[in-house]
Amino acid sequence: MAINIILLGPPGAGKGTQSRRLEEERGLVQLSTGDMLRAARSSGTEMGNRVAEIMDKGQLVTDEIVIGLIRERLEGSTGAGFIFDGFPRTLGQADALRDLLAGLGQKIDAVIEMQVDDEALVERITGRFTCGNCGEVYHDKTRPTKVAGVCDACGSTDLRRRADDNEDSLRTRLLEYYKKTSPLIGYYYAAGVLHPVHGLAEIDQVAGQMAGVLDALPGKG
Ligand code: ADP
Ligand code: ADP
Ligand code: ZN
Repeated sequence: MAINIILLGPPGAGKGTQSRRLEEERGLVQLSTGDMLRAARSSGTEMGNRVAEIMDKGQLVTDEIVIGLIRERLEGSTGAGFIFDGFPRTLGQADALRDLLAGLGQKIDAVIEMQVDDEALVERITGRFTCGNCGEVYHDKTRPTKVAGVCDACGSTDLRRRADDNEDSLRTRLLEYYKKTSPLIGYYYAAGVLHPVHGLAEIDQVAGQMAGVLDALPGKG
């Protein structure tokens, strides 16, 4: 049986970091709308150019665009299940996801809410860098590469910082999160699938809390 989970939390909460671990440990497939949009913008298409400007400001891209990206990826899906990372971010996206999954005879099994303090996010975001080749996520202080300038996972030297990972854009992204995304906490609580974890713990400890949630899901014991 496939399980589908959502990682919910503000920018810098640790969604991408934990998604990659879950992919490795459980064979789940990460669907990150942020990564899909970054791929779209570097492709130079008309849609890519439109979203680039919105992303750099820290605002949300339209529901229509991100739902379209997710729909393409879900079609014909088989396998262990999906980790939705950074999607849904609005109630409209949440409804659309429910309907798309229902069409495949599937559902959301768990929503993991990664609870963090806003003050910690500035440091998380301004210290973040990722591998342009394999997507591994690093941090200047909390998760540096073993050899400076070289990705631990794949050996690439293409380490990148995001244009929107600055304090100004983070402020807008946080406001967007509170206005448009945080209502999803109530939405999924009411659906009986919400599981909060303490996102300020160390990466391994957050992973442990998440494993506890997933191992306790019905049919997973
Ligand atoms: P973070 O990991 O910092 O939370 P993401 O990589 O998920 O950031 O998203 C980067 C940007 O891409 C967002 O600020 C937003 O502009 C856009 N974006 C990503 N996912 C969505 C979504 N589901 N709905 C609308 N915009 C999105
Ligand atoms: P999100 O996908 O939610 O925006 P990321 O997984 O990209 O967040 O993490 C943001 C930054 O914080 C990255 O630089 C990452 O290495 C670091 N990080 C993630 N989880 C933790 C943690 N539990 N403790 C310390 N740093 C972390
Ligand atoms: Zn790499």
